[in-house]
Amino acid sequence: MENVYDFHVHYTFDVPLKEKVEIFKEEFKVTKTEKYCFLSLPHHAHGDEVKFDATQNVVGLFLKKTFSPNAYAFAGLEHPTAIYDKKKVGEDFLNQAKTYMAVGFDGIKMLEGYPSIVRNWNLGVDDCVYDRFYAYMEENGFPIVMHIANPTENWDISKASANAIKEGRVYDETYPTKKELIGQVFNVLKKFPKLKLTLAHFGFLSDDIKRAEEFLSYQSTSFDVTPGGEQLIKMSKNWDLWLNFWQKNLDRIIYGTDFYAFPKDEKWQENFLRRPSFIRCFFETNEMHSYVDGDFKGVLLSQKMREKIYRENFIKILGEPKKISIEFLIDVASELLRSNNIKSDILIADLKYILENL
Ligand SMILES: [Zn+2]
Repeated sequence: MENVYDFHVHYTFDVPLKEKVEIFKEEFKVTKTEKYCFLSLPHHAHGDEVKFDATQNVVGLFLKKTFSPNAYAFAGLEHPTAIYDKKKVGEDFLNQAKTYMAVGFDGIKMLEGYPSIVRNWNLGVDDCVYDRFYAYMEENGFPIVMHIANPTENWDISKASANAIKEGRVYDETYPTKKELIGQVFNVLKKFPKLKLTLAHFGFLSDDIKRAEEFLSYQSTSFDVTPGGEQLIKMSKNWDLWLNFWQKNLDRIIYGTDFYAFPKDEKWQENFLRRPSFIRCFFETNEMHSYVDGDFKGVLLSQKMREKIYRENFIKILGEPKKISIEFLIDVASELLRSNNIKSDILIADLKYILENL
């Protein structure tokens, strides 16, 4: 089995950091994941709510340090909770990005295009509050990975998967439509056409090849193939059309899996292998397999195509990892501990662990 570089790794499960590091080591080894990019999620959607975790950025940078030189980390913007002055917040986003990029992060992860986050904050990714941030990222060629929308069927309760319904990922008329959300990305690109922007989960565009092509018509845009509702299986049903797209855009498609350090319970193996195995079977065989969202037949990509998708494009976008500021890790971890704002025992222990292991 050949090695892969995973562009899309998270660390949000309630597992103590010390244990997380060990779990990641094992999981990376078994899946032959040789390089990886840790994506921070300071705000994440949980059903109808948006939750905040002030430790995500500092933990991400610590993980990068622990797994250097093979690791990269993307920070997430921290948003204010109350109604605010857009001009001030816009300036704060810009300053956050400047700080993150100076202390060793390699880019910014935006979950801000997630339907429930857009709705809860009433804030599209094309809002002017992000303009100075985007301008800075564009000017410096720093990468952004963005989650926008979700699978199309989530807007129709009669078609949504049982899992999506159970987890509150079904959207009625109180949510922005998928068309609106995708439209917001294009509004951003119209203003910042050189933005180095990757849409996660293929932008959930498996049912709209025209939009996918339009997205890649900008000079520094790309897709990651991270599973999600399931874009690859849908494409495989119309593979003649999509193969052409993949061949034409071979430099713009990046391997990623939504990798996590899963809790080491009886389902651990099944959980961490699920997505990487699915993608491997999809790209490396032409046989039938089954996956959560149904059966599929692999599309067997050529060695050359796999090389680009599994490894080369990752390096093309990220280059060498940026140098980590230990001072930043010390300052932020100590500050968070002093603040008394962190209520979870696991997170408090994680911050202490960081300070003891620099
Ligand atoms: Zn993700």
